Amino acid sequence: MNIDFANLTKAYLEHKEGIDYSINSVISSSRFIMGQEINELEAALQEYTGSKYAITCSSGTDALLLAMMAIDIKPGDEIITSPFTFIATAETIAFLGAIPVFVDINEETYNIDTNLIEEKISKKTKAIMPVSLFGQIADMDEINELAEKYKLAVIEDAAQSFGATYKGNKSCNLSTIGCTSFFPAKPLGCFGDGGALFTDDENLADKIKSMRIHGQTERYIHKYVGIGGRLDTLQAAVLLEKLKYYDNDIKRRHNVAMYYNQKFGNSIIRPFIKKENTSVWAQYSIRIKKRDTLQVKLKEKGIPTAVHYPKPLHLQECFGYLGYKKGAFPVSEKISNEIMSLPMNPYITNEEINYIVNEIKSLI
Ligand SMILES: *Cc1c(COP(=O)(O)O)cnc(C)c1O
Repeated sequence: MNIDFANLTKAYLEHKEGIDYSINSVISSSRFIMGQEINELEAALQEYTGSKYAITCSSGTDALLLAMMAIDIKPGDEIITSPFTFIATAETIAFLGAIPVFVDINEETYNIDTNLIEEKISKKTKAIMPVSLFGQIADMDEINELAEKYKLAVIEDAAQSFGATYKGNKSCNLSTIGCTSFFPAKPLGCFGDGGALFTDDENLADKIKSMRIHGQTERYIHKYVGIGGRLDTLQAAVLLEKLKYYDNDIKRRHNVAMYYNQKFGNSIIRPFIKKENTSVWAQYSIRIKKRDTLQVKLKEKGIPTAVHYPKPLHLQECFGYLGYKKGAFPVSEKISNEIMSLPMNPYITNEEINYIVNEIKSLI
């Protein structure tokens, strides 16, 4: 067997007709920049999440950047976040000259441990940036409560959790600003880079809309220092089409995860989803003591795996200046050594899952 990790080709072929039609309409109109599909997609994203304003942009990374620009993050400001995430989360904080202040994660959900946040809040703290990792939303009530107490903004890094729910409410609509990514391998992916921001605050929405187009309020009139951060109309067209059947994709991902769970039984530490959450399964990640050798053996059997993430951010060279030492965040460090993601997408078959689980069980 030769298993595909993300099955992006199958995902396209199953809906080829609609997607091709959507793409061709953009090409025929030649409205490549800010065509009508951008407005249509933003309306659809608002409806989907329940958020008052959705603003599309060039990537998940730029969504985080725009969110912090919109709340006036300045050099020296502190933003509390998780060290167990993709680099973009903390990189965008540092890019603005602000300081990522890390807080360790919960050992079962891998999301920020809300019991450890308050002791890190200082006079310089401006925001908390929880990451909804692997498709499961962080403990937003606790985070929002702390934010209210200390007058902080909350920016959800929802790059992996678009479509997930927390106590019945959708990811991206749970905080001051929600940010997501439409990178091809995310649960809702386009055919290149893409992202979006969500907020209920009209002033923030206006500012973000302006900042993604060089801070302009009208053509060649610039109120803010912004960025070139628009989403391509072609990507909006792809997303408009894919959003139509996205709930079905989520259902299929859920079924895949449940089948993995059932097959593994208690032979392995499998993902834990809290009862107030539904996950969109951006990753199905298990924990393995001798992970690196297992990965090599699985590859020989045609089973691709990935590690999200092998090195927590506080130990990355680029953040050396922050002065964190090994041992600073023991849970993040332990999980980084053990975590391993298995093929996860709506198109993987039970036969493939049987094969993957049997091979893993025979090798550990
Ligand atoms: C993918 C990802 C991002 C960045 O999104 P891009 O669209 O690739 O720029 C940010 N944060 C997390 C947690 C991610 O997984």
